[in-house]
Amino acid sequence: MGREDGRRVEREPVAVVTGGASGIGRAVVADLAAHGYRVAVLDREAPADGDSDRVRWVVGDVRDPDANDGVVDVALSRFGGLDLFVGNAGVHDGGIGIRDAGGAELAEVTRYLLDVDVVGYLLGARAAVRALAGSKGSMVFTLSDASYLVRGNGAGIAYAAAKHAALGVVRHLAADLAPAVRVNAVAPGGIVTGLRTMDGLRVFAGADEITATVRAFNPLGVVLCAEQVAPLYRFLASPAAEGMTGEVLRPDGGLTVR
Ligand code: NAD
Repeated sequence: MGREDGRRVEREPVAVVTGGASGIGRAVVADLAAHGYRVAVLDREAPADGDSDRVRWVVGDVRDPDANDGVVDVALSRFGGLDLFVGNAGVHDGGIGIRDAGGAELAEVTRYLLDVDVVGYLLGARAAVRALAGSKGSMVFTLSDASYLVRGNGAGIAYAAAKHAALGVVRHLAADLAPAVRVNAVAPGGIVTGLRTMDGLRVFAGADEITATVRAFNPLGVVLCAEQVAPLYRFLASPAAEGMTGEVLRPDGGLTVR
């Protein structure tokens, strides 16, 4: 089958997505599968409908190097290659602050977020890099408005630290892996998803109140949904973005001009 851009490949394009069971990742998996990709997904949970012709699930933790190697192995063995790695699985800190947290709690939450949101990305990139270099593929990571902002977005210091660090991961990988592999990112503002804290609390519980806050915070007055940002990942992997690496698309309602 040919790619949607008309370039001939011997097989359909193949992606690995982490955190694909919910929210942004779930929308990315659906968008890729609907546009000719076969997708191997790593998540700590899998949906009830499970594997399909286009999507294979690997249940595991992004903090585990073997789980990252495992999902890449599934892509290679089941689908015959790898063209795109999407690092997306993440957790939030629930707005923890330096003044109100105990020392042990602050350390525990920060270490947990760095482990999932940063080390998880590194381990995924490490697992995927050899196959992507062979296919001239690319990586796309989910960053956040918290990769830039430090106040007003509901995030605390641990999430800011993790998402700023993840921006550093993207920039370093882009420089390190050029010209073999392009590395880009999508940094959304508030999107109502199942996003959770270390303790499993939902960040977007009480969605009406939170969406009003998100809307009031950004110049465009928008609250985007996961399905709106999902095509940006596919765009960054496409030949239309052949000249882009180290780039971050920011669907955040214009926070840069706030
Ligand atoms: P979500 O909770 O709906 O989806 C996150 C997925 O990651 C879940 O399926 C979860 O099971 C999985 N996951 C979490 N920890 C994991 C682990 N250790 N191992 C394997 N899988 C794990 O939340 P979401 O909002 O879709 O979050 C996706 C990404 O988007 C995260 O990196 C988040 O920080 C980022 N983000 C979200 C928003 C937002 O407003 N929702 C904004 C900017 C960035």
